[in-house]
Amino acid sequence: MPATKSNCLLAQGDALGPAIARAAEVIRAGGTVAVPTETVYGLAARADSDDAVAAIYRAKGRPDFNPLIVHVADQWSASGLAFFDRDARKLASEFWPGPLTLVLPRHERAGLSAAVSAGLPTIAVRCPAHPVMRALLAATGLPLAAPSANRSGGVSPTTAGHVFDSLGNRVDLILDGGRCARGIESTIVAVRQNSGCIVGWSLLRPGPISAEAIAAVLGSAPMPTAGSGIEAPGQLASHYAPGKPVRLGAERPAADEFMIGFGPVPGDVTLSADGDLAEAAARLYACLHAGAAAAQPRLAIAPIPDHDIGLAINDRLRRAAA
Ligand code: AMP
Ligand code: MG
Repeated sequence: MPATKSNCLLAQGDALGPAIARAAEVIRAGGTVAVPTETVYGLAARADSDDAVAAIYRAKGRPDFNPLIVHVADQWSASGLAFFDRDARKLASEFWPGPLTLVLPRHERAGLSAAVSAGLPTIAVRCPAHPVMRALLAATGLPLAAPSANRSGGVSPTTAGHVFDSLGNRVDLILDGGRCARGIESTIVAVRQNSGCIVGWSLLRPGPISAEAIAAVLGSAPMPTAGSGIEAPGQLASHYAPGKPVRLGAERPAADEFMIGFGPVPGDVTLSADGDLAEAAARLYACLHAGAAAAQPRLAIAPIPDHDIGLAINDRLRRAAA
């Protein structure tokens, strides 16, 4: 039977209240709900239930060694799940609600499904800013595990349409809250401790909040990431894959390439004609989706400057090309 969009609900304006009420019912019953955040659409389920968390892994086809980010309403809720030292508190106060994920030691009695952290002694927590995700957190009163709402390894979704194209009826409900403003996944920072003493911090994934901004708040430079296999298990070399070969740093397309431009380099679509990196981040996944759907068998992408959020864009593009 062809998939119908019967699992999509508008979640804007007057439709927001009823949509959140329905979504909260689905979440409480252990179901999965795709929900917009300021970064990308997430696939949410209650983080305190083994079955609900298993449903996320199943819908995405996600490998079980790749842990999930747990979303919370505020720092107070987060402190019931993870141990916040002075540096973690500083970062949460400065950047929450917002696109920063903190990897912290997990409380033994946090009441979370073990599968959320894929066997690690740490937990990744974030307090999101998007009004639809915040409304869902408030209505359920639960911590919500929510990875990006796409099949594992594919291009992240920044519209409800992207979610439906990737996951269709594999999820119980999709809330349509419009386009995601930031368009690129949260910055992930691990705060390091040894026997309760702070020893520094590491950047596990570049994102909308720069390493410089973190360093300015903590007053120290990042430590190198050690043993990346265990540190950031989801940082796979190949990710965000549009399903065809990708050539980076291209000044012009070959005959069989769909071109994604930036600044002065034109294309079939452009990340930002003005060379604005924030706009490029917001449009990145929509352009990769357009390239995936195009007739050409290959993609070419213009050079993106490697500073500010350009660092996060290039991180995602390298994985898309791997
Ligand atoms: P996503 O699937 O896009 O939400 O990405 C989640 C990211 O968070 C992946 O790169 C995970 O590896 C990372 N992550 C989640 N929990 C942890 C953790 N406890 N330690 C390190 N990285 C984590
Ligand atoms: Mg993802």
